[in-house]
Amino acid sequence: MNSHLIAELVLHLGRIASGEGLVDGLTVNQWAALRYFAQANRFSRTPSAFAAFHATTRGTASQTIKSIEVLGYLTRVRSEDDKRSVRLALTDKAKNILANDPFESLVRAADSLPHGVQGQFSNALQRMLAQVAQERGNPLFGTCKSCQYLESDGCSRNDPSPYACGFTNEPLHLKELNGVCVNFIPGKFVTTKSPIVRVLSR
Ligand code: SF4
Repeated sequence: MNSHLIAELVLHLGRIASGEGLVDGLTVNQWAALRYFAQANRFSRTPSAFAAFHATTRGTASQTIKSIEVLGYLTRVRSEDDKRSVRLALTDKAKNILANDPFESLVRAADSLPHGVQGQFSNALQRMLAQVAQERGNPLFGTCKSCQYLESDGCSRNDPSPYACGFTNEPLHLKELNGVCVNFIPGKFVTTKSPIVRVLSR
């Protein structure tokens, strides 16, 4: 009985937190795209990674991306590492509007919980996400801090790149470790501060 109630509540929270109709003139999908590009790391700021994260087709994802590009919320930036590839980045206009993100009401509700409850709740949701993903054969999105590919050579904090990604073989800066990644594989470093953030369908 409790398990059905929990599942219903999780579903309901997800629905109402994503907002219904237009908020500041943007649809639910457009908000989801803005939120995604605000969190994604540099390897994941592409239409195909957004499509995977949002569990939608590349065509639908491209339409959503195009619509917010036209509105001036996204811009295309040539990669510093690979000049041939292009990544999508939020504009200042997008960063400003994210302050009105309807999802923030859910963040505030989570913030109002006692710290001990937050940790337990976060761990319980991560376990549920991992099990659902395993049952359906879906990959997970997550951050470097809990990824199998994260490599650290134990260099001093003064080193500009004490970390590296074993998947892309590229150095990682400390500030990049919290970015959401399409190449994430859950590893042994899972903590409550480095959540698995999304189950997806491909
Ligand atoms: S370490 Fe993992 S999460 Fe971080 S960039 Fe590499 S594949 Fe992505």
